[in-house]
Amino acid sequence: MPIVNYNNKSEKYILFKEEEKKYINEIITRSVFRNPIIDKKKKCKKCGEMIDVFLFGTFLDDTTKKRYLNSTCKECARKRAKEWSKNNPEKVLIQLEKQNIERRRDRNIIYRAYGDKCACCGEENTLFLTLDHINNDGNEIRPRNAKGNYSGDFSGYYYKRIIKANFPNDLQLLCWNCNCGKARNKGICPHKQNICQQQ
Ligand SMILES: [Zn+2]
Ligand SMILES: [Zn+2]
Ligand SMILES: [Zn+2]
Repeated sequence: MPIVNYNNKSEKYILFKEEEKKYINEIITRSVFRNPIIDKKKKCKKCGEMIDVFLFGTFLDDTTKKRYLNSTCKECARKRAKEWSKNNPEKVLIQLEKQNIERRRDRNIIYRAYGDKCACCGEENTLFLTLDHINNDGNEIRPRNAKGNYSGDFSGYYYKRIIKANFPNDLQLLCWNCNCGKARNKGICPHKQNICQQQ
């Protein structure tokens, strides 16, 4: 089960594309009186343009338990967020610290779920441990942003996906040693079998 769906057409990776599309298609079928959707377009509150509904983000309303489109398009939301960061550097720092704490907490939860030790050699020092894709498809399913880069709170985001997916069984903990050995030995840790003899 892949953790993240993405579309890599023309090297552009778009997170949750399928999931988001599903949400938006469902929103279109509902008639929303105050925010009419015409020809799959909606007026952005910020720029005032009629924008393709698929270029809006969505949010889950706590009371109705339904999803709705954001009032501003993604482009405007992105600009606004950038502007806000520029004007609130001290709040950005607080946010980053909060993200760090959350990321560490999530990482501990995940490490515990995967046994808190290297699945191959049993190394228990967490400073040596890393998450490994058992089927060696890590690079394909590693999430990226729309520009194809790892960005911002990438690992924090990744950890949340793993927890949400209820600790998929195509992941395991390996120490760096076993992880690198596996990569150099055609996907099998040399502890188990030496396939590639070092010249
Ligand atoms: Zn806009
Ligand atoms: Zn190991
Ligand atoms: Zn090993």
